[in-house]
Amino acid sequence: MAAHYDVLIVGGGIAGLSLASALAGSCSVALVEAEQELAYHTSSRSARQLIPSYGPEVVQELTVRTLGLMAARDAQLPEPVLTPRSFMLIGTEESVRAEASGHMSAITHDRALELCPVLVPGAFSAAGLDTGSFGCNAPLLLADHRLRAEAAGADIITGARVHSAQRLGSGWEIGAGQEAFETGVLVNAAGAWADEIAVISGVEKLGLQPYRRTAAIVDVEHPLPGNSPMVAAADNTFYFRREGTEVLISPSETVPSGPEDARPRPGDIERLIVMLNQLTTLGIRGVRSAWTGLRTEAADGVPVAGFDAEAPGFYWFAGQGGYGFQTSSAMAELAAAQILAGQGAGHSAGAAHHPASRTAEALAATRWSIRR
Ligand SMILES: Cc1cc2nc3c(=O)[nH]c(=O)nc-3n(C[C@H](O)[C@H](O)[C@H](O)COP(=O)(O)OP(=O)(O)OC[C@H]3O[C@@H](n4cnc5c(N)ncnc54)[C@H](O)[C@@H]3O)c2cc1C
Repeated sequence: MAAHYDVLIVGGGIAGLSLASALAGSCSVALVEAEQELAYHTSSRSARQLIPSYGPEVVQELTVRTLGLMAARDAQLPEPVLTPRSFMLIGTEESVRAEASGHMSAITHDRALELCPVLVPGAFSAAGLDTGSFGCNAPLLLADHRLRAEAAGADIITGARVHSAQRLGSGWEIGAGQEAFETGVLVNAAGAWADEIAVISGVEKLGLQPYRRTAAIVDVEHPLPGNSPMVAAADNTFYFRREGTEVLISPSETVPSGPEDARPRPGDIERLIVMLNQLTTLGIRGVRSAWTGLRTEAADGVPVAGFDAEAPGFYWFAGQGGYGFQTSSAMAELAAAQILAGQGAGHSAGAAHHPASRTAEALAATRWSIRR
């Protein structure tokens, strides 16, 4: 017999887990993950930095709200998820100005070198600093969401790939692995596979595109100082930051991919090491580990959250791109409010008194109800 839930979430990454913890306790929730472990794909492959100045305006609002929610949660945890770590953008005057936002202030060349002494002075001519940026203990955050969701009664089922989804009365009948489920609301939090879940469900795809991005942990001759910011090139050719005595580096590539278990390509990290050994005095000696994840985006780069107006009870929670952690708590808060307020097509946030109503309004103006 099929197990029945008010809400069934497909995908056990940061999107699905944060929504499960926001919803559980208010309704019955199941989260179904294809892999044997949670957060196997992009959510275990990020750079773990939350940057208020990064991304489109809506993303920046969601990030500020997420940081507030995480800080409030940190006050209750024995170990914090957030650690202050500023973010510095370097490049030409023009490229830094183009990327800078209200959360970032211009700083002098000397100040930039003081903050990151390994930079070769000729490597950049302008810099901006976002002091409201934080490092994020992603494993701890994911574990906390799981713990909260399960403590509030959510069922988390791993190793069960959703292979079928049909409308059943006012809800959905789902097949996942060997199991069958019935649910009022089907949440599509399947990351790079979100369009595939739509197809399985007989819902029109949104044209979400996964893009590869690689990162590596490298050994260096000259470690970065403890308080050094994450440093990114304004022209998107690299970023790096301290990771203990080692350094995390990324070539910042944005290469289209299908949904897959992405792996680093030969040459990507090696080329980056040659470049960074010219632009810095890090003296990169070797690669400890390297990985690739998929950042999945809608055409306009704005995250997708809302009921599909043409498929009652089908809720999109995808397209988090390179901002899935920094927008997670605010996105989950808003999605939970919307799902609990009404379960159907074309529903709008209606969150005038909601703590994140400004963000809800911003999202309403973009894609808070899909296809309207
Ligand atoms: C190199 C890199 C650096 C990044 N750095 C940052 C950063 O510093 N800050 C930040 O905020 N973001 C960052 N990101 C982006 C962030 O990691 C993503 O936005 C986020 O992890 C996406 O989470 P998700 O839950 O949507 O997707 P995923 O983590 O991919 O989760 C989707 C899940 O759905 C499951 N699934 C798919 N199909 C099915 C099915 N049929 N049945 C059941 N389950 C299914 C998958 O197995 C997967 O576990 C980075 C990404 C990369 C690649």
